[in-house]
Amino acid sequence: MVKKLSDFPRVSLCHQPTALEAMPRLSETLGGPNLWVKRDDCTGLATGGNKTRKLEFLIADALEKGADMVVTQGAVQSNHVRQTAAAACKVGLGCHALLERRVPDREADYETTGNVLFDQMFGTTLEFRPTGLDMNAEARNVVDKLAAAGHQPYFIPGGGSNEIGALGYVSCAYEIIDQINANKLNIGWIVLATGSTGTHAGLLAGLHVAGEQIPVVGISVRQPEDKQITAVHKLAQSTAAMLTDKPLGVENVLVNDEYVGVGYGQPTQGTLDAINLIARREGLLLDPIYSGKGLAGMIGLIEQKFFNTDKDILFLHTGGSAALFAYQNQFTVAAE
Ligand SMILES: *Cc1c(COP(=O)(O)O)cnc(C)c1O
Repeated sequence: MVKKLSDFPRVSLCHQPTALEAMPRLSETLGGPNLWVKRDDCTGLATGGNKTRKLEFLIADALEKGADMVVTQGAVQSNHVRQTAAAACKVGLGCHALLERRVPDREADYETTGNVLFDQMFGTTLEFRPTGLDMNAEARNVVDKLAAAGHQPYFIPGGGSNEIGALGYVSCAYEIIDQINANKLNIGWIVLATGSTGTHAGLLAGLHVAGEQIPVVGISVRQPEDKQITAVHKLAQSTAAMLTDKPLGVENVLVNDEYVGVGYGQPTQGTLDAINLIARREGLLLDPIYSGKGLAGMIGLIEQKFFNTDKDILFLHTGGSAALFAYQNQFTVAAE
C-alpha cells in the first residue's frame, strides 16, 4: 500500500529546513558554473550531519517497537555512530556500537579523538572489530545476545541505510524542491558523497516521487561504480515503492568512483586540496572520509566540463567535520 511521508512515525531531531547557500567565491575560483551548498552539516545534533535526518525515522520506529536501546555499527570514525549515540541520549535510549578498524595506518589517537571522543561522551558502549567482517551480521549477533540477556535492542544498520532511514532523504529532497521553487533557483545538478547508500537513495526516491528531473551524481567514497549503482538503485527503488507505484529506473543512478583513492577513509591529495580550498574560499569545514571526496569529485567533473554549464550545481554538504581531528597531521599548514 502506497503511503505518504507524513504517514511514517518520526521524532524531531533535526534543525530543518537546513540552509541552502550560494558559494560565490568557490564558483569564481573554479571559473563557474554557479555553486550552491545545502547545509546538512548543520542538522543540529552533536555537530550535525546527514545521519540525523535518517534517525528521525529510525528512532521513531525503535520507540514504536518498544526498544530500550539501539545497536549499530560503523568504521572507527563513524559520523553515523556519533549521531546515533546523541539521538539515543536525546530520547532516553541506550546505545551500543561496533566499530570496524577499516582504515589502515592511522595516527595514534585515531580510536580516541574526533567522533570516538563524542561517542564516549554520549555514554555509548563500544566494541571494536578487525576489518573485513560483515559488520551488519556482527551487529545482529550482538543484538541477539543483548535480547537473550533481557534487553529490548533495536538494530540500526550501518549508516542508517535501509528504507526507513532513507525516508530522511526523501524529506530532504522535498525540502530542496521547496527551496528551489521559493527562491526561483536554476539548479541543474545535485552532487554528494555516497557511501552506505541511504542518502543518495533517499534523495533519488524523493525526487522521483515528486516528479522532479534534477540528476544526482554520487561520488563514491568506497565501492567501485557498478557495485555502488546496484546498491543505491536497490534501496532507492524499495524506498520509492513505499511512496509510489511508479518504478524507479536504474538509469537515474549516477555514480563516479574516480575519487576514492586507495580506499575508504584514506584521503587523496585531491581530497585534501578540495577541503583546504573550500575552507579558504567559503569558510566551510568538510571531512577527509566523505564530503572532501565528494567535493574533489565535483571539482574534477567541473574541470572535465561534465555538467551543462547554463545551470547551477548544488553540493549536498553531508557533514563529518568531527573526523578532522583524527586526521590532524594531514592538514599541517606549510610555513610561508
Ligand atoms: C555517512 C556519510 C556520508 C554518506 O552517506 P550514506 O548515506 O552512507 O551514503 C556522506 N558524508 C558524511 C559526512 C557521512 O557521515
